[in-house]
Amino acid sequence: MRRALFPGSFDPLTLGHYDIIKRGVKLFDEIIVAIGINASKKYMFSLEERKKFIEDAFKDEAKVKVVSYEGLTVNYCKEIGVKFILRGLRNPADFEFEKAIAHTNRDLAPIETVFLLTAAKTSYIASSIVRDVIRNDGDYTKLVPKSVRVIK
Ligand code: ADP
Repeated sequence: MRRALFPGSFDPLTLGHYDIIKRGVKLFDEIIVAIGINASKKYMFSLEERKKFIEDAFKDEAKVKVVSYEGLTVNYCKEIGVKFILRGLRNPADFEFEKAIAHTNRDLAPIETVFLLTAAKTSYIASSIVRDVIRNDGDYTKLVPKSVRVIK
């Protein structure tokens, strides 16, 4: 069974992430959306909220699982026996950043990183922009799946 880990902060899940997961499902038997926990990072949404947003968005998709993990992504892949990491690419800056991480990961473990280019219509969306829009009471609903809603 071909399983891929899609790691990230998902603070919150956006239509960009959603697009990559939907397309990843066509390439792999299982996509494990893995929320990385970084103790030194401040998040807008709690781990439970971020997890629920993703689970609800994919409740009809049996091939998508949601987990959380701490520590190095490749160590977590080894722990659960996953051989592929899925990442999305939006722009040259993403490419340079992801290239360095993928090379480092390959030095650490025999795990292949598979990149998908973003869909043109969601390529500008970033969780950081969504958070800014939310903080400033803008209409964020066009940038995220329906499962992502802020209760004020
Ligand atoms: P990280 O903290 O690792 O950057 P993110 O939650 O921001 O975590 O992103 C997780 C993954 O989703 C990364 O591979 C990132 O490139 C990808 N991604 C983020 N936004 C988009 C988007 N708009 N379109 C496609 N992929 C995206």
